[in-house]
Amino acid sequence: MTEEREYDVVVVGSGGGALTGAFLAQRAGLTTVVVEKTALLGGTSAYSGGACWLPGSQVQQRAGISDSTAGARDYLAAVLEDADEAKVEAFLQHAPELVADLEADPAIDFEWLPFPEYYAAPGRVPFGRSIQPTNVKRGELPAAVGDLVRPPVERDRAGEGGRNTLSGGQSLIARLLDGFLRDGGTVLTELPVTGLVLDDDRVAGVAAMTPEGPVEIRARRGVLIAAGGFEGNAEERAAHGVPGDVAWTMAPAGTNTGEPIRAAVAIGAATDYRGIGWFCPGLEQPDGGGSFTLGFRSGLMVDSYGERYANEALPYDRFGREMAKAPERIPSWFVFDSREGGRLPAIAMPEGDPAAHLAAGTWVRADTLEELAGLIGVPAEALLATVERFNAFCESGVDEDFGRGEDEYDTFFAGGTGPNKALTACSEPPYVAARFVLSDLGTKGGLVTDVAGRVLREDGSPIPGLYASSNSTASVFGQQYPGPGAPLGSAMVFASLAVRDLLA
Ligand SMILES: Cc1cc2nc3c(=O)[nH]c(=O)nc-3n(C[C@H](O)[C@H](O)[C@H](O)COP(=O)(O)OP(=O)(O)OC[C@H]3O[C@@H](n4cnc5c(N)ncnc54)[C@H](O)[C@@H]3O)c2cc1C
Repeated sequence: MTEEREYDVVVVGSGGGALTGAFLAQRAGLTTVVVEKTALLGGTSAYSGGACWLPGSQVQQRAGISDSTAGARDYLAAVLEDADEAKVEAFLQHAPELVADLEADPAIDFEWLPFPEYYAAPGRVPFGRSIQPTNVKRGELPAAVGDLVRPPVERDRAGEGGRNTLSGGQSLIARLLDGFLRDGGTVLTELPVTGLVLDDDRVAGVAAMTPEGPVEIRARRGVLIAAGGFEGNAEERAAHGVPGDVAWTMAPAGTNTGEPIRAAVAIGAATDYRGIGWFCPGLEQPDGGGSFTLGFRSGLMVDSYGERYANEALPYDRFGREMAKAPERIPSWFVFDSREGGRLPAIAMPEGDPAAHLAAGTWVRADTLEELAGLIGVPAEALLATVERFNAFCESGVDEDFGRGEDEYDTFFAGGTGPNKALTACSEPPYVAARFVLSDLGTKGGLVTDVAGRVLREDGSPIPGLYASSNSTASVFGQQYPGPGAPLGSAMVFASLAVRDLLA
């Protein structure tokens, strides 16, 4: 070890959970350092829409929507299958307190975000109960903040800087970082954490790697691991049975490969993996990457037999799980017509340039469906029959196979003019088929934690000094993705509960 530094709290990672913990700890008077592997802060959280599923808060009350903690409890009770009830209750109880605590600071401001929840279940709020940070202008932030926030995905992947208006996840990261730096917090970048430092059985810091050699950063009170999942690690994905591929994940390149989780496991932390992620259909890019896609307005998804297999308008995680069920669904082909001028009738982050897709073969175009089928290698007869059947559903307004358009989520993004807004015929040549893979917004299995965010051993006892949240932990929601903002909302709540425990 060539260097030693000491703080009250060491936070590993810099996504929404990590920075919530860092901000609250520093504001409460604990000297806090954020240790980030890359040169930029925010990880996948900075790419996100910044939706936070934090039910029952003052923000929903201000918006006058029918949200409440009790309603959210009913909703989760109906939706979750395998969750730890005590942790769910801790989440529900603390979410409103967290929002009040954050909004008490001039750096933080939220608003309601209309975005339907992902299950038709008791307790669901029409148009959803998610909140998001309000936009902030780069010019209103200290230059250091603007410089450190990872740009939006389409710009980051292209090697470009951020925009002048920071919205969604950009705003969340910028606002938390602004408050953290204002209060004297420390940020160390390009410092991958590789291990944990123990004093007897207590976690007393982290070991990290610099080009000059290893360093030890000591934590007088505790370490909070909130450093993403292991979505960027092919071996671990395979070991834990997570479908998809490192090439298709949405995590920024070189970020989330799971070493902080492994460091905790090495000192006895329990894990719960379940082989899952926050899934989504991924528009394949010419470079082999995936793009998170939601909100299909028209068109239909077919497998390698040329057949539909699910309601394309399903919430993205649920559609991703349908994709994962059979090998003939990866890749799938999304077939659409020319009614949007050759652009994908969906929201893809990023979509990419149609001409580049066509040149690379990730999209193919043809004047007839027969020709299109030949280009994508699916049986022409089957594709024709599938499209014909789909178009008949568009005319009648009833998707007899998969019920597309029956749920409020299905019609939220769709603008069709027929009897069913979510069903628009695929009938205007030329036709395009876009290749889709199974993408993810991160894995959601990992360290087992308790109601205070403490990392537990196999015997259920907490490891002194060690806390975790975000995708580094086994999700409080288990297998399910209840609504927009569930990853960030849960990450923020358990980071905040960890700080509360650190202060106790
Ligand atoms: C386009 C898009 C939109 C989305 N929209 C939403 C949304 O609106 N709401 C929502 O809740 N979720 C959304 N998500 C999902 C959500 O962004 C992620 O699941 C979540 O932010 C992950 O948070 P995290 O803190 O676990 O990881 P990240 O935000 O990825 O942060 C992890 C950080 O830890 C760092 N790190 C990793 N390993 C180490 C190490 N060894 N040492 C130090 N640092 C390390 C990484 O470099 C990274 O910066 C979206 C995702 C995408 C891609």
